[in-house]
Amino acid sequence: MISEVFSSVMGEGKYIGRRYIFIRFRGCPLNCVYCDESVKESMPPRVERIPGSGILEEYPYIERDLVEIVNRLRTPDLFAVSFTGGEPLLHHERVREYSEELRDLGYRTHLESNGIYPEKLFFFHYASIDIKLPEHFKDLDERKYRRIYKLELRSIKKLYRMGSEVYAKVVVMEESDPEVVEGVARDIGDIGDITLCIQPVTPIKDIKPVPRGKLLKMMELCGKHLGDRVMCTPQIHKYLGLL
Ligand code: SF4
Repeated sequence: MISEVFSSVMGEGKYIGRRYIFIRFRGCPLNCVYCDESVKESMPPRVERIPGSGILEEYPYIERDLVEIVNRLRTPDLFAVSFTGGEPLLHHERVREYSEELRDLGYRTHLESNGIYPEKLFFFHYASIDIKLPEHFKDLDERKYRRIYKLELRSIKKLYRMGSEVYAKVVVMEESDPEVVEGVARDIGDIGDITLCIQPVTPIKDIKPVPRGKLLKMMELCGKHLGDRVMCTPQIHKYLGLL
């Protein structure tokens, strides 16, 4: 269920640059073309012994000892504990138990989710919900894509109404249509005071980077609906060589 626990810097989204402890869960039913999680799926469960060392050691009892591990990885600059993946809500019952226990101990909790399970959501202090675009998938039909998009918006709305500091994150690619991204901004602006983080795809394998002009154009179009609640948030942990 849990593949890794480690301390690092948040490399994406609205809280980029803050110190976090990451609890990474296995599995995700989507298959985004830019996903780098499949490599980690096959690895045994691992824990960072010394926070920030980047050295992960095999540890078969993560689920039993999770709270103790988080306590050990706590540093004075810690901002929050992230439940990430894969898709953590595939294991929503355990995630709820862990997050309640951690909240009782004074930790702030953060969910990073693909947004397709609104019915499994509960309160987190912070939440990042992905918005997928059609080009994120090979061979995805229009009807299925529209269904995913509606679920993502429902997740954002539910978290917003619960009082979570929720934001949306959209990965943009060379072929992404700025007007489609603008449509996303319009829809989340209709929900409330929500930030949209535009994440230029990290070029891997045959995926090309997003042209700079296109990125700025997208931000401007989104700004028409969200004002300054638009951010460009590249994956900084990859540039810094962090976990
Ligand atoms: S939603 Fe996230 S974890 Fe799931 S396939 Fe896409 S990038 Fe990978």
